[in-house]
Amino acid sequence: MDNIWFDIKEQLKSSLPAHAYNTWFEPINLIGHSNNELVLEVPNQFFYEWIESHYKNQITKTAESITGQNLEVKYTVSLERQLPLETTESPHKIKKVIKDKPNLNKRYTFSNFIEGSNNQFARAAALSVSKSPGLHSFNPLLIYGGVGLGKTHLLHAIGNYILDEKETAKIIIASSEKFTLDFISSIQKNKTIDFSKTYRKADVLLIDDIQFFQKKEQTQEQFFHTFNDLYQKGKQIVMTSDRLPSEMSGLTDRLLSRFESGLVVDVQQPDFETRVAILMEKAEQNGLDLPYDMVELMATHIKSSVRELESTIIRLLAYSSLSNCDIDFNLVKKVVLERLGNGAPIDISTTDIVKRVAEATKVNEKEIVGSSRKRPIAEARQISIYLCREIMGSSLMDIGMNFGGRDHTTVLHACRNIENKIKSDKRISYLVRSLQQDLTFSLI
Ligand code: ADP
Ligand code: MG
Repeated sequence: MDNIWFDIKEQLKSSLPAHAYNTWFEPINLIGHSNNELVLEVPNQFFYEWIESHYKNQITKTAESITGQNLEVKYTVSLERQLPLETTESPHKIKKVIKDKPNLNKRYTFSNFIEGSNNQFARAAALSVSKSPGLHSFNPLLIYGGVGLGKTHLLHAIGNYILDEKETAKIIIASSEKFTLDFISSIQKNKTIDFSKTYRKADVLLIDDIQFFQKKEQTQEQFFHTFNDLYQKGKQIVMTSDRLPSEMSGLTDRLLSRFESGLVVDVQQPDFETRVAILMEKAEQNGLDLPYDMVELMATHIKSSVRELESTIIRLLAYSSLSNCDIDFNLVKKVVLERLGNGAPIDISTTDIVKRVAEATKVNEKEIVGSSRKRPIAEARQISIYLCREIMGSSLMDIGMNFGGRDHTTVLHACRNIENKIKSDKRISYLVRSLQQDLTFSLI
């Protein structure tokens, strides 16, 4: 079986650009083969979709030329590797085959959770709860913070850790939506007793996104009882939320005080160093060798969440593969720009502009914002002022303040002067245009 896949890969390798092959085929394993099908294991859903939409024919043809058989290609995501493969009616669908197991995402572990000052405390609390669930005052543990910052990751990491230590531990993980839906359907089916039994069997109850409990009083009531029951039995409860319980509207007071009775920790946006670490880790996970300057460019501009960082890497892979080009600095710029969106406020400051102009004109930065009237200096200053107006859209007064307290008429004069020179003076025109492009594009 390995041989077949080896041959197929060799052939694909010789017919595809190296980066496409490395990105999309190197990570695939063949895990099943019969007379009429090949089952490929791919690292994630995105991979599957990408390969299905871009390389389906190529794979089928190659397989056919090597085996002489007409094979149907099916996929499975690595998560399900150890489990029996459920054949699907349609190769386009990947069915989840996990039954009777907590719905834990195996890929969310402590070992691949990158620690930074933004999440240190939350991670430590989560780890401590995992080591001795229910045994100390971190009960309940509530992790809160904005989207894409790792709350769900930590919640699953707790479940995975506990299960690794003790296979028989009864872990129940659900989003508050699922809890709500389960509850509602139990009412409809007259099975509320089963419902409480299920949830109250837990040794560890992990509930994601409890903000969805807002305004659902019956569900809250139900959760309150489940909560108390487990709590009294010394079972661990961990919850996540995108805001503090006190900021949730429509939460009954007694539930609120329950939520706040243990430990509340937050996850915040990653700082620069953490963003770099996350990008390097995610790049490595995707078999991508990114030079530091590219990582730095991404880390400088993609700030809001870890999810954003992750999807930037995926986009990058997709782009390079789609356009048959290697990942280079320009491609990274392009992807970063795209992710920031056209309307996004450009994170650029007067200092950045002055710095660039100084580099391009060889006039010292201090002199640019200073008072000298020597021609090259005054010119560099006027160009800087013009760019501040054009790129940042700053007010004349603000610009004046940043350039040594000049008044707005001086600023206006500088802008007009450069506008005119762009029309009449090729050197200035070229210099200004290239600076403008450079600054806008690199988004400094
Ligand atoms: P939240 O639940 O806070 O919205 P998630 O836990 O879903 O965020 O995280 C979004 C993505 O970012 C996930 O793929 C997760 O694995 C990843 N992630 C978040 N924080 C980290 C981290 N500190 N280290 C590594 N990956 C992280
Ligand atoms: Mg989440």
